[in-house]
Amino acid sequence: MSGEILDIARTILREGLICDHCLGRQFAKLSTDLTNDERGRAVRLVLAMIADAQDDQVLRSDLQQPKRCWVCNGIFEELDVWAARALNALDDIEYDTFLVGTRPGGLLSENEELLWETAGTGYAEPLKSEVNREVGKRIAGVTEKEVEFTEPDVVVLLDIARDTVQLQIRSAYIYGRYRKLVRGIPQIRWYCTECRGKGCERCSFTGKMYPESVDELIAVPVVEAMKASGTAFHGAGREDVDARMLGSGRPFVLEVKKPRKRRIDPGRLEKDINEYCGTKVVVSDLCFVDHQKVREIKSEQYDKAYLVTISCSGVNRDTLIRGLDAITGVIRQRTPSRVAHRRSDLVRKREVYSAVLESFSIDSAVIRIECEAGLYVKELISGDHGRTVPSLSEAVGADVAVTELDVVAVKPVSA
Ligand SMILES: [Zn+2]
Ligand SMILES: [Zn+2]
Repeated sequence: MSGEILDIARTILREGLICDHCLGRQFAKLSTDLTNDERGRAVRLVLAMIADAQDDQVLRSDLQQPKRCWVCNGIFEELDVWAARALNALDDIEYDTFLVGTRPGGLLSENEELLWETAGTGYAEPLKSEVNREVGKRIAGVTEKEVEFTEPDVVVLLDIARDTVQLQIRSAYIYGRYRKLVRGIPQIRWYCTECRGKGCERCSFTGKMYPESVDELIAVPVVEAMKASGTAFHGAGREDVDARMLGSGRPFVLEVKKPRKRRIDPGRLEKDINEYCGTKVVVSDLCFVDHQKVREIKSEQYDKAYLVTISCSGVNRDTLIRGLDAITGVIRQRTPSRVAHRRSDLVRKREVYSAVLESFSIDSAVIRIECEAGLYVKELISGDHGRTVPSLSEAVGADVAVTELDVVAVKPVSA
């Protein structure tokens, strides 16, 4: 075996003068507690003794140190420079874990392939692995941060060909619940259907259907506090624009993109958001979570409770109470015409757990409805021209319509 290693080493050296890093890296899978340049020096030392013992002039000349290594083009003499550039880029961001990535560029990759064609890859590791590790060690030494392979807070990308250092900052995720105390605000920014965000007369050149949204109100103080590039809002379902969201609120996860600060006290952030949102939106239960939480709240089904104000002139109290009994239980609901453009046209069975009269006057009433996830409550009242059966309108024999709607509870079905 030892003969084989020395044969490989001699083959490598015949290809051209090479540095200790690049020589040693071809044996990286052997003696794994050494650095590649230590391996390279060891191999070179043994071959130098052989050259002396055999008085081998050719081998002696192949063993010279290169002015510039033909494989790495001298990159391993510049590790400190790359590390300093990386540290400089990392200087004003907050992170606990990092990873170095290297794009060697076409030239270095080709050199490495040329070498492997003649010398083989049996014990070798790629050049970029060694650069990543060596620069990583230098950064860790200075910052005392940890290298993390699966989900580092930041990836430092060394682009050798372009001679640049780029940072890829991992998103942060904030879980919370929001209450929407006013009507007329959508959950997420809603681009103008006419111009799709570019700005036109219809949207007064805002590009949006509504000037503000729960998403945007919450995002402003977060982007500022975390020095982020932007956010993406993930809600656990959503209420209509004209419905308030009350009770203990609706769960959401805010994805914070490229945060340059991530050691933020969620209690402090909660206070900042609530000060900024004034009387429109209130958040609570804020905490940092990992990205799996987005899928979790998106895939969860939520039962709801609503407070519904209805117009019901000509319907007396007893008829209304009987009507509420009639719509309690399983109903059949065909996809409402108002959402048919985004949901497939199906008849779904949904359960109304309870429908209770809260207050009654001559031509209006407030009722509390608790129902299964996915039930459209406005259509449960109106009947949607026979698409929801039974409905309150049908049960009382009059046109009954929702005038105001509040979501008062959102709770996971599994809970
Ligand atoms: Zn080299
Ligand atoms: Zn527009």
